[in-house]
Amino acid sequence: MKVYKFGGASVKDADGIRNLAKIVALEKNESIIVVVSAMGKSTNALEKILELRFAGLSCMEEFEVFKSNHLHVCKELFSDTEKIENLLKADFDLLEKRLLAKELKSYDFEYDQIVSMGEIFSTKIVYAFLEESKLKSRWLDARQLIFTDNNYRAARVQLEKTVDAIKETSSKFSGISVVQGFIAHEEKGTTTTLGREGSDYTAALLAYALEIPEVTIWKDVDGVYNADPKIFDHTKLIPELSYRDAVELAFYGASIIHPKTIQPLQKRKINLRVRSFYHLEKEGTIVATKKKKEKSPSSFIVKKKQVLISLVPRDFSFMDAENMGLAFQILANHHHHINLIQNSAISFSVCVDYNQAHFSSLIQDLADKFELRYNENQVLVTIRHYEVALIENIYDLLQFKMEQRNRSTYQILMSNEEFEQKLLPIIN
Ligand code: ASP
Ligand code: MG
Repeated sequence: MKVYKFGGASVKDADGIRNLAKIVALEKNESIIVVVSAMGKSTNALEKILELRFAGLSCMEEFEVFKSNHLHVCKELFSDTEKIENLLKADFDLLEKRLLAKELKSYDFEYDQIVSMGEIFSTKIVYAFLEESKLKSRWLDARQLIFTDNNYRAARVQLEKTVDAIKETSSKFSGISVVQGFIAHEEKGTTTTLGREGSDYTAALLAYALEIPEVTIWKDVDGVYNADPKIFDHTKLIPELSYRDAVELAFYGASIIHPKTIQPLQKRKINLRVRSFYHLEKEGTIVATKKKKEKSPSSFIVKKKQVLISLVPRDFSFMDAENMGLAFQILANHHHHINLIQNSAISFSVCVDYNQAHFSSLIQDLADKFELRYNENQVLVTIRHYEVALIENIYDLLQFKMEQRNRSTYQILMSNEEFEQKLLPIIN
């Protein structure tokens, strides 16, 4: 049995879906679980729709565009478009009904009910196309396989229940199972999601449950690079990555894989191969227990939209474990992911991902207990396996807000202008 994950870029249009069918058809006689993301930029489109909805504006125009993009792909793929339109109709109606509902629950809850629909449409289309291509297949609902708590938008997986459900469904079928990445469900039956890029994590959970030795992530790039080619001039493909390096890179924002993906893989020593959807002859990158003792290349990860928050206790007491614990608790309550921390006797600075939906309530709660200052729109650059000469140069030339290093990782926080005007020219 194999687990293949196809990201949004690989199923962005009719050609992509045809290519997916061609790739799975190469594995004759092998059962494959195909994990699929939402098509192209549909997750972003649904996020936009939700934003309009929460701003009290109409999102029907955007919804129609979303719908027609999907139907356009169907027209290109199927001879009998009526049949496929009927297949999708109930889900489009459901989505529309949600968008028109008078009442809104919390942002995170609505996010999961609405944004999860992208994966429902993509998998239904992929499944219908595999059927039409005479490949023995079935459509699975991830909401009956992946169990989580109700921490909407970043739901935590209940592993035991999930493993049992996956084993149970997979024992009875041979052929191609098409399943949504990213989406799951909680006890009361509402939909949850695993966080952006969560489809990788779904694929890892499936392989973990079924003890499959390798997961393949098919991408529109050749593998994992040491930096984002959209930002940096000179980038290199990394042929082999350790689990540790992969986690560190993902955690600090390399958009290669969802950070939680590695844990289940590492536990069972499952290899992860990231390879090109276009160049089947290329081997890509393998994430595994590292065999070669070669020095790892420097990797550069850029995480934008950071906020630096500096806190001083209102009563001028020390920034001790109690005060820090309080600050951490408030950050966790308001769903802000922490990237970097620094403290002194009476102050505490923390760099977090900006989370628009919860930011103002975070600031309010912190201000109750602490004197506070914050800078928005900061950029966090992480260099894994850095060269000392390079970071000395950066240190001398840059006006930065915060800096930290250990043996293998260097991190520096700066304004967007410093990043664009000074850091990029140094590295490029
Ligand atoms: N569709 C979701 C996203 O774009 C999940 C994924 O692609 O893995 O983040
Ligand atoms: Mg993706």
